Amino acid sequence: MVRRPPPTAAQTDPFRRALPVAEPRQVWTHTRRVLRGHRRALSGVIALHALAALAALATPYLIGVLIDDLTAGTTAGRVDRFALILLAAVLAQAGFTWLAQRASLIFGEGLFADLRERFVDRASRLPLPILERAGTGDLVARTTNDVEAVSWAARFGLPSIFVASVSLVLTLAATVAVSPLGALALLAAVPFVGPATLWYLRRARDGYLWERAMWAGINGVAAESAEGARTIDALDLGPQRHERLLESVRQTYQAEYYTRWLRMWWFTPTEFSYVVPVGAALLWCGWLVHDGSLSIGAATTVILYLRQLIDPFDELISWLDEIQVAATSLARIIGIEEVQDDRSPSGAVPTDDAIAATDVHFAYRADTPVLHGVCLDLIPGERLAIVGPSGAGKSTLGRLLAGIDAPGSGSVAVGGVPLMELSMDDLRGEVALVTQEHHVFVGTLRDNLLLAKPDAADAELQTALVSVDAWDWACALPEGLDTQVGSGGQSLTHPQSQQLALARLVLANPHTLVLDEATSLLDPRAARHLERSLARVVSGRTVVAIAHRLHTAHDADRVAVIEDGRISELGSHEELLAARGPYAALWRSWRAE
Ligand code: ADP
Repeated sequence: MVRRPPPTAAQTDPFRRALPVAEPRQVWTHTRRVLRGHRRALSGVIALHALAALAALATPYLIGVLIDDLTAGTTAGRVDRFALILLAAVLAQAGFTWLAQRASLIFGEGLFADLRERFVDRASRLPLPILERAGTGDLVARTTNDVEAVSWAARFGLPSIFVASVSLVLTLAATVAVSPLGALALLAAVPFVGPATLWYLRRARDGYLWERAMWAGINGVAAESAEGARTIDALDLGPQRHERLLESVRQTYQAEYYTRWLRMWWFTPTEFSYVVPVGAALLWCGWLVHDGSLSIGAATTVILYLRQLIDPFDELISWLDEIQVAATSLARIIGIEEVQDDRSPSGAVPTDDAIAATDVHFAYRADTPVLHGVCLDLIPGERLAIVGPSGAGKSTLGRLLAGIDAPGSGSVAVGGVPLMELSMDDLRGEVALVTQEHHVFVGTLRDNLLLAKPDAADAELQTALVSVDAWDWACALPEGLDTQVGSGGQSLTHPQSQQLALARLVLANPHTLVLDEATSLLDPRAARHLERSLARVVSGRTVVAIAHRLHTAHDADRVAVIEDGRISELGSHEELLAARGPYAALWRSWRAE
């Protein structure tokens, strides 16, 4: 297996713009800020660990003193007293360790809960276009693998690191206090652990970033394959998807291999560094005792202390590795806070409900413009159908009118305020995009509805469900509004989940709706039923219907024909038929089908 240095983000992610990853400095600032927020708990944890470590230091010291006493000649009573003090020290150590571990675990949980809440809050507010461009795999990997890695480190890593660091510092200090000369034996560890650790740390971050990005790739391919299973079957793309997955697995294997290789070359010399000082201390302190510059008791204490350093040092070294993984994951989690908001609420309040697009240009990729100077004034309360050939830019215009994407130039505004200057909550009260994509969130039916209006009372939820014809089945659910739905709960049929989405719309109560293929993929019976629900939702609102079937256009007040990213015709069905332009041609060919 070839080892190769980790590629750059651009190499691992050539097609997509990956979500950002925070720089080490930002990770550090963030960690410090979080720790500062838990300052009291942190001080308590450190104090308890210090007490436990001090109690642990008593044993070697007492043994050293006892040996010197025995060498000089002592009484049985004094030895008994030593034994009792030793027992008390061991018990105190056990007691303090228990308290310290408990406090650390509570502290770790608090820290992790903070992190998780911030992450969920930010993730749920990520600008949609950025999320779509990055692909869901990356975000899913950050919410699962990365949060898991950080949670492990916060819950168990930080506590262990506290214990190890405090024990290490105090034991070192005690060793130097007992005999500075004897403590020199520790230097024997430096050539083993120093260069190897520096070598490892220089490579670890890039290695783990590579590894994490590859895992995100596997997640993405697997999730996309599962979501698009029917399409894959229909187009017989199975072998291709399989090959893609295998390729992702191969790349992940290489990344994992690389980080394992790093660990192997780091751990081996480090293991030596544990035992070498103890061996060196035996020889060195032996010589000092022989020389007369150290008592045999002090030598014993120093050697026992050095022996006692091995466990915390080992603990620290093994956690250092886990912490590298967690820091990489944390960088990916915090990274999503770096995503620039695509809207900047100005606080301006729309003067009326009229949405207007003025000279709108838009491109998904800089080199392929999709819309070229579109102007469209919606008349409040009208039903406008957008028709045109596939790929002409209908859905794109719909997304812009609903304030999902920002125009490259020109403006889309409601009552004089650009949609991008409204906060997400305010925007949803003005205009909403309704597509065939809808999601039932894990939670109760009530939770699903409250997403649209968090302070709605049950009566309001009921009215919304009644208005979309969903009250009957909602009542029939085992626990009504309290029934758990979504993955793992009561499963809702396709039309039911679409009605749920419509009920959310009723609650959000926007004055303008952009309907894109809202019912086109449903079976005709369900579509008819749903169209009834939809008709009730749209009544009294301004509606922009992206029409893939022309009868929608026939029923509309006005029709806009889009061709090649431009509005080529605008007028009522009759006017456009009379004009004998592109719409009349489309209409004739549709009638002839
Ligand atoms: P319509 O709805 O009229 O079929 P669309 O608005 O979906 O057309 O697409 C207009 C053009 O923009 C097409 O050429 C399409 O390939 C392109 N396009 C649509 N969505 C994206 C996207 N997310 N990224 C890049 N190009 C896109």
